[in-house]
Formats: sequence, structure tokens, C-alpha cells
Amino acid sequence: MLPVDQAQTLILQAIAPLTGTETATLETGLGRILATEVTGKLDIPHWDNAAMDGYAIRFVDLKETPVELEVIETIPAGQVPSQSLQGGQAARIFTGAMLPEGADTVVMQEHTKHQGTLVKILQNPTYRQFVRQRGDYYQAGKPILQAGQRLGPADLAVLAACQCVEFPVYRRPVVAIFSTGDELRSPEESLRMGQIVDSNRYGLTAFVQSQGAIAKNLGIVPDDPAQLKATMAEAIASADVVLSTGGVSVGDFDYVEKLLETLGGEIFIRSVAIRPGKPLTVAKFPGNKLYFGLPGNPVSALVGCWRFVQPALKKLAGYTGAYAPTFVWATCGQTLKGAGSRDAYLWGTLRTEATGYVFQPAGGGHSSANLVNLAQTNALAIVPTGTPEITPGDRLQVMLLST
Ligand code: AMP
Ligand code: MG
Repeated sequence: MLPVDQAQTLILQAIAPLTGTETATLETGLGRILATEVTGKLDIPHWDNAAMDGYAIRFVDLKETPVELEVIETIPAGQVPSQSLQGGQAARIFTGAMLPEGADTVVMQEHTKHQGTLVKILQNPTYRQFVRQRGDYYQAGKPILQAGQRLGPADLAVLAACQCVEFPVYRRPVVAIFSTGDELRSPEESLRMGQIVDSNRYGLTAFVQSQGAIAKNLGIVPDDPAQLKATMAEAIASADVVLSTGGVSVGDFDYVEKLLETLGGEIFIRSVAIRPGKPLTVAKFPGNKLYFGLPGNPVSALVGCWRFVQPALKKLAGYTGAYAPTFVWATCGQTLKGAGSRDAYLWGTLRTEATGYVFQPAGGGHSSANLVNLAQTNALAIVPTGTPEITPGDRLQVMLLST
């Protein structure tokens, strides 16, 4: 059994980021990974402008209080001032409007009194107050976003502001998914005695989609070596990553490991010191491909995805941030039992209280077959190898499932 950290390291060593790129737009770029540095052609702001509704003035005119200035024009946002300010003059100005030449400061409306063609400044501003200066936030030509960054809402707004309407992103990893087992039926099919619903394929597909990768559904494969081999070969040929569930334990009908070898895969993980999910089998194939043989038990399969597949997908996708899941320290809300020579990953909810994070395990059994109480959880608490239990009030590490 490989320790969890070592398994993660080996998995990340076994693959390189994908290099293929495609063009994304401001509409399609959400969640994509930038393939090049982005440089804007415009200063932001593009020109000196007002941060408040009020009056553009020359700071040198504020010798005494209250001073009275002549209002020479009104400048709404989007209009070019027609005159420059001379001594003793002001311009009515609105938020976002261009500052007229000669002006260097804006007095907020609330600190003024308009009287005919004059404005009285009731409270003197500081020099440059309420002026957003050209290039204050960004100067044209400097890098604004880096290759390897995942694009979120703020990034897309920034790209739009730079008029960068199309940009190269890395292609998304293609992930083939299938379930193995004679007992499995699709959710639409009626079950005969002894059969179960193939829930894994749906959980795994959703997981893959949530990672911004492309899921390729190859269905259910019975425990028949010939059919299994054919599907495994098709999956490996057509995807960057393969996720199969079931058939990796020591049972008589567990063929995946043997077939991986037959197909020329290099198996570098056969079991990991984690509960649930110990029988994880990982192989690499030529062409920068990874095969994850995940255990069939539904919780084991998803925990394996969150803990081991997710970092691999991040690396493949060209992401340059941290690959490992995010762990936080939390207070234990209820006694948690360890798993002897394995790290126990216990599912539950992490909530924020006045004192910080508190972890509460899901009610009901923590069996890897108990898929039901995995629903609506958001975190996995870790009881490390060799720790018999963690008691309420103790601190513990918790892995977030949202990232
Ligand atoms: P296996 O790893 O093939 O021995 O399967 C372990 C357990 O997980 C068995 O009880 C299976 O019935 C169950 N199982 C396997 N595949 C799935 C699946 N796709 N969906 C739900 N349960 C499964
Ligand atoms: Mg099976």
C-alpha cells in the first residue's frame, strides 16, 4: 500500500500538461486555462476621469474657504470636454466623465453649493481627490494575466476591459468513463434480483465536467475479459485519461489489472493506504495517458476522483496553480475513528462558526458502499494512519470538495 502523498506524487510525475490550444472568447472562456500571457493595449483608466459626481477644479484655486468658482461647462460621462480650465474656473462633472485639461481635483457635489453660474466650495478636497488617473490600475503593454491561469468572472471582465475578445486556451482533457460489473444496469432499466444501478458513471461524469474536462461515456461493460479488453483499448486510444470503476480488487472477476498489462500499460500504483479507496490501480500509457482503475464501491470511486484524479486533471489542463486539493484546519465536531494502517477519509460537512471551521461527519454508516449519506457533503476529514481516533474539540485536517 502506497501512502497517499506518494501516490499523488507518482501520478503527477506520470503526466505532462497538454500542449494543444484552441481559441476561446469572452463568452466561452469561463473555466478555461489561458495558454499565453495576455497584454492589454489600453491604459486602465484610459484617461483621467471623475470618481464622483461633483466639480472638476484646479487645486491651486483653493486658496481660501469657501472659494467661489465660475462653472464653464457640464461634462457627462462619455463626452469630451470642450474647454480647458483657467484660473478661477470649474466644470460640472459626473462619475466616469473625462477631466477637462487644467483640472486636477474633483470636489464631491455634497461639499458644494451651486449658485447661478458659480459654485461655492464648502469643504476643500485634498490634491487629486476623486480623480482616477490614466493608467492608475494598469499600463498598456504590461502583462495582465498569465499563461496557466484559470479564467473566472473577474478575469473575463479584465479581458473585456482590455478589448481582448479572443484568446488562446489549452484544449480540455478528454476523459473516458465506463463502469464494469455483470450486476450493473442503467438508471432507466428495471432491475432483476441481484442487480444494482450503475450510479458511478453519473457521479464520475459530473466530477469530470465539474473539472472543466470533456467526459466521454463508454457505458457499462460486463465482467468478461474480451469485452473489457476491447472497451479499455478503445478508451485508452480515444482519451487522455480513463476512469473505470470496479474490477480492481482481488475477486475472481476482477480483470482490470491483468488487462492493463496485456494492453501495454505500466502499472505504478496497485493499492493506496486510504479508506475508502484502497484498491486504486493507476497505469500510464504511451502518449501522455493515464488510466485510473477505481474501486467499484461508490464512495471509494468518488473519493479516488477527488483525491487523485483531480490533481492529475489540473496538471493536464495546463493549470499552473497548486494541483493538490485544498486542506484546512478545523475543529472536530464528533468522534472520528481511524483506519489503522490507512488514512481514513470521512465525509461530512464543514461549516464556519465564530471560532473557525467545524467538521461534522455525515450521519449514518461510513461504509464505502453507503453512497446515500455522501449527498450534500462538502468535505473529507482525515484521520491519519496510526491515529486511533480524533475526539470532539480536537483539531484536524479537512479536504474541501468544492475546488
Ligand atoms: P468491485 O470493485 O467490482 O468488486 O465492486 C465493489 C462493489 O461496488 C460491489 O458491491 C459492486 O456491486 C459495487 N459497484 C461496482 N460498480 C458500481 C457502479 N458502477 N455503481 C454502483 N455500484 C457499483
Ligand atoms: Mg465488480
